[in-house]
Amino acid sequence: MKTGLLIIISGPSGVGKGTVLKHVMADDSLNLAFSVSMTTRPQRAHEVDGQNYFFVSKDVFADYVKKDAFLEHVEFVGNSYGTPREYVESLRKKGINVVLEIEVEGAKQVMRRIRDQKVVTIFLIPPTFEELEKRILGRSTESAEAINERLEKAKRELSEKFLYQHIVLNDDPLRAADEIRSIIRNKLNTRIIG
Ligand code: 5GP
Repeated sequence: MKTGLLIIISGPSGVGKGTVLKHVMADDSLNLAFSVSMTTRPQRAHEVDGQNYFFVSKDVFADYVKKDAFLEHVEFVGNSYGTPREYVESLRKKGINVVLEIEVEGAKQVMRRIRDQKVVTIFLIPPTFEELEKRILGRSTESAEAINERLEKAKRELSEKFLYQHIVLNDDPLRAADEIRSIIRNKLNTRIIG
């Protein structure tokens, strides 16, 4: 059986990754699974534990780090985020294509660690920085300090988009999702070995 693809999708806070990904994941023909990350960030009202994230304490997170149980992990605006390794690897072994929605530092860790033909990297960009700013500022659940940090981080992340194989403009979530689906489909169709 062919090993599943590892699909990394990054993009600054507020670019609309969640909405675009929902449309991408809805395509059953691509045999996709979403890698649910672990985080120490507080749960937001609309989020479901085990679906959006596994919300854990700092101790549980530190234990995973100690056991080397993360494929990658980072600090982001005062909280920790990580991709549990076991889940991703077991799915890929079954031929399932796994989607990682992670920020740039974590993506760089994965790019360094997994250097095979089955990694697809995609960076989602907003039409304008002003639009992104509006969306980040609209997140009333966070402190002014966290919002400022997210804006700074968004600027840094945008400057690293060229590390990715594909840059997709989120001018419209359905169109962007279509483009991402085509990228994945092309990759699946052009694989020769493994
Ligand atoms: P948020 O707090 O807005 O849900 O996520 C903050 C950032 O962390 C987003 O850019 C998101 O893509 C990223 N992120 C979510 N899970 C992970 C993870 O497991 N690893 C890394 N490196 N980034 C993550």
